[in-house]
Amino acid sequence: MTSYICVTCGIQYPSSDSAPSHCPICEDERQYVGPDGQQWISLDDLRKAHRNVVFEEGERLWGIHTQPKFAIGQRALLVQSEAGGFLWDCVSLVDDETVKLVNERGGIRGIAISHPHYYTSMVEWSRAFGGVPIYLHEADREWVQRPDPAIVFWKGETHKFNDDLTLIRVGGHFDGFQVLHWASGEKGTGVLMTGDMPQVCPDRRYVSFMYSYPNYVPVSAATVREIMHRLERYAFSKLHGAWPKFAVEGDPKEALRRSAGRYLRALGDCAPGDRK
Ligand SMILES: [Zn+2]
Ligand SMILES: [Zn+2]
Repeated sequence: MTSYICVTCGIQYPSSDSAPSHCPICEDERQYVGPDGQQWISLDDLRKAHRNVVFEEGERLWGIHTQPKFAIGQRALLVQSEAGGFLWDCVSLVDDETVKLVNERGGIRGIAISHPHYYTSMVEWSRAFGGVPIYLHEADREWVQRPDPAIVFWKGETHKFNDDLTLIRVGGHFDGFQVLHWASGEKGTGVLMTGDMPQVCPDRRYVSFMYSYPNYVPVSAATVREIMHRLERYAFSKLHGAWPKFAVEGDPKEALRRSAGRYLRALGDCAPGDRK
């Protein structure tokens, strides 16, 4: 029995004698199956060919990234919150070395993942840290490929763990897309971790809002307005996207407004208070 991982999206399936016949995450129009068809790798083989590096992304914030690049290539974040360690987003590779590096930084008490593209080996991660809960939004339940008792589906628009950490459902890329707000991050000025929604642009001055990143399908103007509305009340001085060191610093709330304005103009739709 082997637990197979999809090479394109990095999601892990339950143990089976032979590889699954297809990956619904990759067959969905937001992802893709590569030109060579569906490919799989076992976690053991992934461990032989790759390793995780842990690096500083901010104050009490650590990036975890697999090298050489595997699947989509996002990095996870270890958040050293006031209520203990928390893993934001996830990567397919987890091994003894990674567990050691995370435990040296206080370990984790829970996991939350923005959306199905980063579900990866979340169950494997939970078990490596004693079965810690994995918080996902109920609206994305259908995309879970390896069900497990550690998965906690929450409903509604926000899920406040404590005064420090809050999950906010923004939707857009996926119905249940969630971002993580960390109130005490960056010396109490606040941190927002968004994964793909919005995604930080390479210039680190703008963000963008896509339904599908690999297939270049935008979301609607109404969706962008709704996301802006949902994030308005939160304070943050740094916004982290999905890739290593892809963060907006300085005034990310202004960068969000500027980015939404540019996006809406590109759709031929004026932002509120914006001139055409
Ligand atoms: Zn896949
Ligand atoms: Zn995505």
